[in-house]
Amino acid sequence: MEKKNLDWGSLPFDYMKTDYRFVANYVDGKWEEGKLIEDPNIVLSECAGVFQYCQACFEGLKAYTTEDGSIVCFRPDMNAERMKDSCERLRMPVFPVDEYVKACEEVVRANAAWVPPFGSGASLYLRPFMIATSDVLGVKSAKNFQFRILATPVGPYFKGGAKPIVIRVSDLDRAAPRGTGHIKAGLNYAMSLYNIEDAHDKGFSENLYLDPATRTKVEETGGANFLFVKKDGTLVTPKSDSILPSITRRSLCYVAEHMLGMKVEHREVLLSEVADFAEAGLCGTAAVISPIGKINDHGKEICLPSGMEKMGPVLQKLYDTLTGIQAGKIEGPEGWVHKIM
Ligand SMILES: *Cc1c(COP(=O)(O)O)cnc(C)c1O
Repeated sequence: MEKKNLDWGSLPFDYMKTDYRFVANYVDGKWEEGKLIEDPNIVLSECAGVFQYCQACFEGLKAYTTEDGSIVCFRPDMNAERMKDSCERLRMPVFPVDEYVKACEEVVRANAAWVPPFGSGASLYLRPFMIATSDVLGVKSAKNFQFRILATPVGPYFKGGAKPIVIRVSDLDRAAPRGTGHIKAGLNYAMSLYNIEDAHDKGFSENLYLDPATRTKVEETGGANFLFVKKDGTLVTPKSDSILPSITRRSLCYVAEHMLGMKVEHREVLLSEVADFAEAGLCGTAAVISPIGKINDHGKEICLPSGMEKMGPVLQKLYDTLTGIQAGKIEGPEGWVHKIM
């Protein structure tokens, strides 16, 4: 198989059409046989549920090449389980977890020429998603749905090393208590666009969202969970029912506790205690960890002791361990690195 001739290391995080996508339709109360197709377009009725009431959810994971030339992805079963939760909350049919993982494998194999070579830092990003395809006018769930997985090559998240970012405490809220913050629904992102663009206009990389009920506790940003490190080296991650359960965060906490012998606390984190932490960062599939240098709380700067030059030592160690496991250089827990070919 000949690889596509792309400048892998400088690819942006943008959509590029690849050769195949996986599609399965839910019709008459059941999933039809899914298949790989070449057409990237979807033709739908103007009144389809996805257009009217945003009945849609998505996932994101990466396939990449390890040193021995294998193509793998990281914990795809976790994405399948999380999409199950999203679908149940949004009154959409669940795509079975086993078939979901198989569909990811099929898309990657069919697009193997688009999987970046080892060492490029790039990956083939998989975007599984589900949309309501049948007409709705009254506010109700659609009857028919489509599950699709598109694949697109993306470059390394940090092109010249991970530089600490500056974020701000947001005045707007992300997810209501008992709302939909814990599922990966497009609607959670649509409503965050105004605020992230406003943050960027004002020179901040991300918004730190507080819990809407008391506005005293740290939740997450628009698309990543927080990691904090106490001065004694304990890893602290915020706990709330409205935080999206990041697979990267859960993997890092496992690595910290079971492989690095660190103390880990998953609990409510007050904004007022952030100034006492030694390190802070954001985590998600895209960057694994982005270090935070400063948090701006309405003009008052909280400067993390790890500074603006580089990631702090504890987060760096976590980053190196998890990316080492992903690359196949460090032995991780059974099943984390899922071999496709
Ligand atoms: C996807 C997402 C994350 C990161 O989750 P990963 O599984 O680690 O990629 C964090 N927060 C939000 C709101 C998300 O949508």
